Amino acid sequence: MEHYDVMSAKAAGFMAQGKIEHILKLARDYSQDHELVEGLLGLAEEMQGLPAMAAATLLLNKDKDITDRIFALAEKVKNAYYGNRIVLFAPLYLSNYCVNGCTYCPYHRQNVHIPRKKMTQEEIKAEVIALQDMGHKRLALEAGEDPVHNPLDYILESIDTIYGIRHKSGVIRRVNVNIAATTVENYRRLHDAKIGTYILFQETYNQKEYERLHPKGPKSDYAYHTEAMDRAMQGGIEDVGLGVLFGLNNYAYELIGLLLHADHLEKVYGAGPHTISVPRLRPADGINTADFSNALPDDMFLKIIALLRLAVPYTGLIISTREPEYIREAALHLGISQISGGSKTSVGGYTHNAEDTAQFEIADNRTLDEVINWLIRTGHLPSFCTACYGSGRQGRDFMEICKQKQIHKFCSPNALLTLNEYLQNYASPETKALGQEVIKNELARPMSDHRRQMLELRLQEAARGNVRFF
Ligand code: SAM
Repeated sequence: MEHYDVMSAKAAGFMAQGKIEHILKLARDYSQDHELVEGLLGLAEEMQGLPAMAAATLLLNKDKDITDRIFALAEKVKNAYYGNRIVLFAPLYLSNYCVNGCTYCPYHRQNVHIPRKKMTQEEIKAEVIALQDMGHKRLALEAGEDPVHNPLDYILESIDTIYGIRHKSGVIRRVNVNIAATTVENYRRLHDAKIGTYILFQETYNQKEYERLHPKGPKSDYAYHTEAMDRAMQGGIEDVGLGVLFGLNNYAYELIGLLLHADHLEKVYGAGPHTISVPRLRPADGINTADFSNALPDDMFLKIIALLRLAVPYTGLIISTREPEYIREAALHLGISQISGGSKTSVGGYTHNAEDTAQFEIADNRTLDEVINWLIRTGHLPSFCTACYGSGRQGRDFMEICKQKQIHKFCSPNALLTLNEYLQNYASPETKALGQEVIKNELARPMSDHRRQMLELRLQEAARGNVRFF
């Protein structure tokens, strides 16, 4: 067995299974040690992050008072780094053809009753226009792995199509991509196509479980999958998004895996993950969640979100519509910084009723306008900002600014610009009235005359669809 080495190029080194197990054992042994736990909370209060060992120990501590303090601190850290803005996006499923055998996913190749569908470029255009009509500016492209039906050329052509669509005042400003692990050369091509974040969920960091859950297809290779982010960074992609599918394996193991992975990327490439997603397993065609024995209860799920916020304060945390409104609302107070809204997980679902091709059932079926309305009413600032991407604040540069707690100086005014763009072009009258109140209150805050004039001018421009970011 290879020894743990954070700098190793190999999964067997930077994700040595023995290391995860060792941390898990120590965390179990020490989680009820009051003095140690107080010390770890003290470390978290410095808001500079936590190592995997500390986060796992706090996770396994059973004291309700400690959990309450973790929750309060997570909200404080989120606000210190990002302010109250919440970035919005929607997934766009291009194709559900897949050659893999993932046992939890209905797209697995043995599933013969799910209709297979791959969108043409014309169909993609129609879907993107429907998303633009809602007000979306940031998409996450999703596709199964199939070298014949969904080769990289198809993904690249689709990205090109999407960036090329001019519809009313809207353009899609950032296309994130969630496709299977690939080669450095292919990552270079994705980088050249100007993608935003490359997202790939690890599903589980437990190698044995991974191999059992992925019995067939290219995805069955644990090392190739785990080393994908290294190849992405070598291919020039600076922003990568991690995640595990909670419900597949022991959750404490996964928290440790995520944090070791983040640490590896930061030490080797100078930039940790741009985002971490926290999907939980959902019912789907032929997939019964009761067949999986590691269900993550709500209270632990929320504690994991809070600990991720404390452990990697500079990383965006994403929650999707897999979760119902009440969980999303609780999670927003624990450090979540990006959410999806108005989502469909089917191929062609924004223009047709295509539920039979859906990947999984979603639990938050509200429209984007309802989500924006709810965010404002619960004290958050909805944002369609993509400024960092356009101005080269990516990877290491983004991390530097974020670590100095300076990123909210860009996030907050840019969120206001894009909120105004949304309100004037896409919102319902009720949401528009609510949002305009927020903008009025923000403009009433103390700031220099020059700053106020500039903000007012740019807000007017944004209302006409011309967003000039700070
Ligand atoms: N095909 C790509 C790959 O292999 O990584 C990614 C695209 S897949 C559409 C996106 C993610 O959906 C997967 O990585 C998995 O974590 C998640 N997923 C699959 N089945 C799910 C289910 N039943 N419930 C919730 N999420 C699921």
